[in-house]
Amino acid sequence: MKRLEGHVALVTGGSRGIGAAIAVRLAEEGADVALTYRADEERAAEVVERVKATGRRALAVRADSAEPAALTAAVDETAGTFGALDILVNNAALFLTGPFEEFGLAEVDRTLAVNVRAAFVASQAAVRHMDGGGRGGRIISIGSNVGERAVFPGLALYAMSKTALTGMTRGLARELGPRGITVNLVHPGPTDTDANPADGPSAAAVAGFTALGRYADGAEIAGTVAHLAGPDGRYVTGAALAVDGGFTA
Ligand code: NDP
Repeated sequence: MKRLEGHVALVTGGSRGIGAAIAVRLAEEGADVALTYRADEERAAEVVERVKATGRRALAVRADSAEPAALTAAVDETAGTFGALDILVNNAALFLTGPFEEFGLAEVDRTLAVNVRAAFVASQAAVRHMDGGGRGGRIISIGSNVGERAVFPGLALYAMSKTALTGMTRGLARELGPRGITVNLVHPGPTDTDANPADGPSAAAVAGFTALGRYADGAEIAGTVAHLAGPDGRYVTGAALAVDGGFTA
């Protein structure tokens, strides 16, 4: 029997990049997987096909994480479609960089809405479906190496948003532990995605900040998420795990 057989997962922002890698990996471990996306229906459909190719059930829901009602509806639709919700991965995020003084309030508010408030709202909605008495649940948020070490100017807004997840993770771990729900944070390092391509203009410099001297593939982040989601992760809660090639070492 696979480690996540009979479990249901929801990955926000699962149509591309790290989220897509997590969705596929959780399915390979045996979970039925729902994913949200904001705009790219075609890419979301591709991930659905990849999940289905593992033999698991899949669902894609268009839901902008900045819209609490849409996000809550996506959580409820996941549980309604698959009959449960065991694993929530708060992955969707906005990566806005630039001089601190040039950000407008709209950009600040949208970053906080997508990167911070959405994780809170989705966790609230998910916990309502998690069976604390029996099988418990897993909430795993995707932070960032940059929340731990902002190596370039221009990262203040994004780093601020990612650091907020540290407090949420610790607070929720305490609050939900008695209900058998673990809450953890995974900090990826530079990972080859549309948001941070390994052949981008500053990629060589960024890779140089890691101990391994290279970008990660999304699957390398997904492996740690799968570990936390599975039975081997059951005693880990309130933790922040760096999967960053030594970026913060
Ligand atoms: P990408 O930009 O490559 O993919 C983002 C995904 O999130 C897409 O599926 C996108 O959907 C979805 N998304 C974006 N905005 C929203 C929204 N408002 N509502 C719902 N879905 C949304 O990002 P990455 O894969 O690079 O990043 C994934 C996570 O990893 C993020 O939390 C990021 O901060 C973190 N991270 C990434 C690093 C990296 O180097 N790549 C390093 C450290 C952390 P759609 O296709 O519809 O646009």
